[in-house]
Amino acid sequence: MKTVIAFFTEPFTKNLHHFISIFVLISIFDLMYFYFDLGYKDHVLSLFAHLILLAYFSVAFCSLLPHQLKKFYLIFIYLLSSIYFLMGTFSYLSMQINPRPSIVTAILGTNPQEASEFVSTFINAKVILSLIGIPLLLIIFSKWIKKHQKGYKIRLSIGFPLIAICAVLFLHRPSVWLDGIASVYYFVLFKYDRCPELAKFATQPQLLRQGPQPKNVVIIIGESEAKSHCSLYGYNLPTTPKLEQLRNDSLLFVYANVTSPEVLTVDVFKYLLNTFHPEDKGKSNWYESTTLFDVARQSGYKSAWLSNQTKNGMWDNLVGNISELSDTSVFVGNRYYILDREWYDGELIPVTNSLVSKQEDQSLALTIIHLMGSHEQFEKRYPSDYEHFHASDYQDYPEKQRDIRAKYDNSVLYNDFVVSELINIYSDKESIVFYFSDHGLDIFDSDPNHFGHAKPTAESREICMQIPFMVYTSPLFQEHFPIITKRIKENYNKSFRTDNLIYAVMDVAGLSFKDNDDVKKNSLFSTP
Ligand SMILES: [Zn+2]
Repeated sequence: MKTVIAFFTEPFTKNLHHFISIFVLISIFDLMYFYFDLGYKDHVLSLFAHLILLAYFSVAFCSLLPHQLKKFYLIFIYLLSSIYFLMGTFSYLSMQINPRPSIVTAILGTNPQEASEFVSTFINAKVILSLIGIPLLLIIFSKWIKKHQKGYKIRLSIGFPLIAICAVLFLHRPSVWLDGIASVYYFVLFKYDRCPELAKFATQPQLLRQGPQPKNVVIIIGESEAKSHCSLYGYNLPTTPKLEQLRNDSLLFVYANVTSPEVLTVDVFKYLLNTFHPEDKGKSNWYESTTLFDVARQSGYKSAWLSNQTKNGMWDNLVGNISELSDTSVFVGNRYYILDREWYDGELIPVTNSLVSKQEDQSLALTIIHLMGSHEQFEKRYPSDYEHFHASDYQDYPEKQRDIRAKYDNSVLYNDFVVSELINIYSDKESIVFYFSDHGLDIFDSDPNHFGHAKPTAESREICMQIPFMVYTSPLFQEHFPIITKRIKENYNKSFRTDNLIYAVMDVAGLSFKDNDDVKKNSLFSTP
């Protein structure tokens, strides 16, 4: 009985200073991000409740331990909290991004030299002030509170109702734990897999040439574009006018039933450009499968990777590693990222133009263009002249959704411009261009309070797997490849998942494997 009482009361009596210090370390930047940057006030309340409970029970647990172990336990808890605080300081104060799992990927995925470059790039007055000031304040506060040990009754009569309210708030929305420190450590322990050096696993597939090969095969990989927000797919606001024009000109073919195999960029890329499928998980490793780059090498295509995402940065270390399999690569994002200024996907237009002019004398080219698309935060994805939609256009929706919906749709509108301009670069050449999004987003579809990447529910994942997918064929391509053009036209309704992309690409490039008929079986364009 005594231990039970101690368990529940100690965080308010003997260990109040630990309770509050740990709470501050694990909550300050997350709460600021959700409150100030996302303006998500009731979400902040749930997150606050979750983090209060986490700090409370972490400290309460201390009372169950024998005296000698207590100290080590507290050091451990402070260590975890301080690391999180450190990450929050850099990600939030220096980069204004959500201090959550992506940063862990970056930290675990970079080497010490990169890490020190990273720190020196992002250190500034705010960061230093936070790293010195906040811990100092907590120490002074702890000393003061230890001196004033009296007033237990008041502490308990405020403390217990607080915990009760927090428990109710948390139980009301338990998935909020995904936005806090617990999810980061969960990710590190159970979800993170280090990416090996991929070139070591290159294969040499035996190929058959079925016919002539088109000069330009281009794959534009979009980011976080929800099919349901494209007017190309019947959305009620004109978010994709330029692509619609291309469709009306019978140059762009839009596919109705395409899904992604996963809901996060990094997870999608394990399947996207190789012969690996989600069904193969556990049987082999994704990086051991045959990649599109292996196929390109064996069939005379020179590959290039143009990206507006960062290479060794916050988001996608794994994608950066995959890009190294191509013959050349340009990461537009890296430049601006270091300069700490905003940049848009449009930066890829001149970069693609100059690549194409360099490729003139080269026979076959496979080009992958990776966009930032509609990745959160949406308003950072388009220049101000694309502020076309405003909260007032969304009167039918709850008030707090309107601004977010407008910003999201503006990013889709700008993406429409970028993709159609990129396509335009290839319009007078013998070219076929694929465009699709890596995965979709859940913009208040499964939950009126949630927007962003999928929540861990079947419904939200399902929504985020619905993606726009289309194929552009230039007039020259249509003239030179009438049979495949016809098949491209005819299959617009076929169900297809993008882990089979490699087969569709090989199909249009007139290639198949010598030892199996997987291309025929799995291509989007094959007719049974
Ligand atoms: Zn993504």
